[in-house]
Amino acid sequence: MTTPCVLLACQCGSVEGQLTLDDTTRFHLVCYCCDCQAYAQQLQQADTLLDEHGGTELVQTYPANMQITQGHQHIACMQLSEKGIYRWYTRCCHTPIGNTVRSAKLPFVGIPVAFMRFESATQKKQLLGPIAFKVFAKYGQGQMPEEAYAKVPFVFLRQTVGFLLNGFWFNKHRPSPFFRDGSPVSTPQVGKTL
Ligand SMILES: [Zn+2]
Ligand SMILES: [Zn+2]
Repeated sequence: MTTPCVLLACQCGSVEGQLTLDDTTRFHLVCYCCDCQAYAQQLQQADTLLDEHGGTELVQTYPANMQITQGHQHIACMQLSEKGIYRWYTRCCHTPIGNTVRSAKLPFVGIPVAFMRFESATQKKQLLGPIAFKVFAKYGQGQMPEEAYAKVPFVFLRQTVGFLLNGFWFNKHRPSPFFRDGSPVSTPQVGKTL
């Protein structure tokens, strides 16, 4: 059986890639945190990126599972603050394409579903499965869905630790589309207004 893949493409189609769904080591979630909302505003994409409660849909996985196959020159990076995570997006059309920590050594990337292309809602569900966690609902807007967690549930933290340990063990932090020889492929701009 071939390993299922998700096609990655920015809104204008200049940046393309693929996400390999090789096993169960990934999380499909919606994040309602202030930073994810602020980021969507920065990208001037709040209308398209955020759901009605201000949520951003993401898949957290290993950098080694993600490939950018074209449009590398359009990759840019911003931090909402000095200590903020690296938020990668495309310069061509401001599509968010990945969130990483500031170290190339952590086997972690959060890929916004906005960077993924599906033939249909059915195909999306087949590939990504249902949303496992809705987190940071205390920052969400309006009447929040019942299954959303105010912050982050313990079960999610526990699974994340297992995910990271597995990633460290199998060196899943590389290759990464966002780091080369341990350095960011594009210089992160702090608090950048586009
Ligand atoms: Zn683009
Ligand atoms: Zn968030």
